[in-house]
Amino acid sequence: MIQYIVTISKELVRILHAQALESHPLEVAGVLLGLDNGNHFDIRYILVNTVYTKRTKNSVQSAYDLEDSWEENSPLDIIGEWHSHPNASPILSRNCDLSDWEKRHNPGSDENTMKEGALEWIVGVFPTKRKRFQFKDRCYLKIGPKIRVCKIRVY
Ligand SMILES: [Zn+2]
Repeated sequence: MIQYIVTISKELVRILHAQALESHPLEVAGVLLGLDNGNHFDIRYILVNTVYTKRTKNSVQSAYDLEDSWEENSPLDIIGEWHSHPNASPILSRNCDLSDWEKRHNPGSDENTMKEGALEWIVGVFPTKRKRFQFKDRCYLKIGPKIRVCKIRVY
């Protein structure tokens, strides 16, 4: 079985966590930019959505597509998206994430906005007893009907 690996710097993980914390208890979302080498994705840059039409504890709807604002001639590709799960595990939710993903990754759908094989990074952010927060990260890749969990390597 092919193993899918995502590499990301400590600094970018720190930024993802900081954004998830700043928005807590609301969701936050954005776009992942980097290099896609087939089974190795290298995240180099993170965009954070700051304009929303609707944002709750378990959903987020961007007012416009960050993907559209990214120039096509950039050396970095849009390799996926990320969002936070306030007070929840970073597991793809059946009602929202999976159904949304089906629509957005389906070439036959009007709402198809993501290319095949795009990543979805989820940051779970949980309060701890001492009024601090802890984070759990998971990164998924959907190839056809299959969803794979990627191995995250932080450097
Ligand atoms: Zn989600």
